[in-house]
Amino acid sequence: MSFSAKERNNYVRQLKEGYFDILVIGGGITGAGIALDAANRGLSVALVEKNDFAFGTSSRSTKLIHGGLRYLKQMEIGLVMEVGRERAILHNNAPHIVIPERMLLPIIQNGSLGKKSTSLGLYVYDRLAGVKKRERRRMLTAQETFKMEELLNKDILKGGGVYIEYRTDDARLTIEVMKTAASKGAVCLNYTEVIDLQKEGNAINGAVVVDNLTGDRYAIKARKVINAAGPWVDVIRHTDGKVEGKYLRLTKGVHIVVPAKKFHVNQALYFDNPSDKRMIFAIPRGKVVYVGTTDTFYDKDIDSPDCTQEDAQYLIDAVNYMFPRVNLSVDDIESSWSGLRPLIHEEGKSPSELSRKDEIFISDSGLISIAGGKLTGFRKMAERAVDVALKQLVKEAGLKFVKSTTDKVKLSGGSLNGASEVSVFLQDLISRYNSVDQDIIIGLYYKYGSNTEKILNIAKNIISSQAILEAEIIYCIENEMVFNISDFLIRRSGMLYFDRPALKNLYTDVHEFISQELGVDGERQKADLKRFERDYKAVVAFKEQ
Ligand code: FAD
Repeated sequence: MSFSAKERNNYVRQLKEGYFDILVIGGGITGAGIALDAANRGLSVALVEKNDFAFGTSSRSTKLIHGGLRYLKQMEIGLVMEVGRERAILHNNAPHIVIPERMLLPIIQNGSLGKKSTSLGLYVYDRLAGVKKRERRRMLTAQETFKMEELLNKDILKGGGVYIEYRTDDARLTIEVMKTAASKGAVCLNYTEVIDLQKEGNAINGAVVVDNLTGDRYAIKARKVINAAGPWVDVIRHTDGKVEGKYLRLTKGVHIVVPAKKFHVNQALYFDNPSDKRMIFAIPRGKVVYVGTTDTFYDKDIDSPDCTQEDAQYLIDAVNYMFPRVNLSVDDIESSWSGLRPLIHEEGKSPSELSRKDEIFISDSGLISIAGGKLTGFRKMAERAVDVALKQLVKEAGLKFVKSTTDKVKLSGGSLNGASEVSVFLQDLISRYNSVDQDIIIGLYYKYGSNTEKILNIAKNIISSQAILEAEIIYCIENEMVFNISDFLIRRSGMLYFDRPALKNLYTDVHEFISQELGVDGERQKADLKRFERDYKAVVAFKEQ
């Protein structure tokens, strides 16, 4: 099935007319993973997302596919092993967006890490997570560490460790999973919000939704409803009835983005923040470095968590302590994002102590809710949720139990195997499209993978950077359900976060182009622009506080 915004009416008709085995609420990574797992097992699946796909936490994480080092500290051994395996599977199935990244771990005086304990910790981690031999940890002297990163605070440096993390683009990972689910028959629609659950007697058999683009309300019928609404999981549980037993405790995490010219690092770093002994990431990406994260309890509006000046200052202070010559200030910040962790409440624990483990709750009326967890573990979370639903369907509707095989499913854009195939593919594109700047081709590959040629084909012989951008937008409208400027500039291309200065002279043209392609005008066109401009300002609003 195609995944084109221009086919929206067709998808709406299918949602209205269908009777699905599973209806998934929420189009973040958890929901996308569930839709893919269920469709891949041959079930009929619908997924609805109230805003854009990955609008929630799944576009606002640290964007790492973790090996789970921090879980080792909390002695969550099973979790370390599971995420280690998952990381290898995801790299294999989506090599264009799950990419190994060298991480330097400086060890400092009075820091939370000692030399011996770090060496031992990383050794145990390598074994538990099944890390490949060539990617295993290497310990460094203070001098060696300083040589790798000369902006570090030499006076407090005791040594370092190097290990491998995998970086990703969370929103793009979500959309690639969603596209793959759609290609297997799942009907996945954004801007479609669940406002009520439908029941026969006490048993849930669907949901009432409102189309947030047209205002149309309709019902979707389904045998099982899975609530994968991330930080909104309890809002949906309240729609079902009283929330009993465990409930969510949200914590907020902020990242700031600064120009690499101001804070230049040679690789990603994971370093101590001496003020509270939490660990902070600094991750280079193109022309910028992003730094995060904070971790504080949050109980305000779930739809728009903000970055406050206090959040920004916390991260700046951490950078300036570890890299004293950088002298970062709030004025240097180009962009930011703020996300909510949908964690499960545990009495008396601080935000950082709360477990990142996922859990499934089943209500009396049969609503299956899944919460907690990480981007990294989404495939296994999805497998567990679909196992629960399918076991019920075996009993209640006589369906056959089929095991999950998503570990073998290549994601959209991920059809190439290993670095050598990627290199041959890129060389071939660069030589055939020799009038296009090769950095543009490489940039497109690390977003769209093996689908890159489709974009270059849309641009045909027009090779200006504007034509390539327009081709990228057309590809995203016709293959990734882009409906407005925010979908493209925030979640498909990541430009609001990683290239905000360039947007100043660009965003109104992008808005015009998308509106024209989709035939959007009048009030909706104005509202789309207003919403984007609000986000464009919000990512640096704390500068004026
Ligand atoms: P979401 O992505 O929030 O998706 C839920 C969706 O449900 C939303 O899009 C929302 O719009 C939709 N929804 C809500 N209500 C309705 C409704 N009524 N109808 C229809 N749709 C609805 N994990 C990692 O593995 N690596 C990391 O580096 C990492 N870093 C993180 C850093 C931070 C600061 C945070 C906050 C989290 C981080 N995580 C990380 C965790 C990870 O990002 C989350 O666990 C994951 O993204 C949660 O995905 P989700 O799909 O469950 O929730």
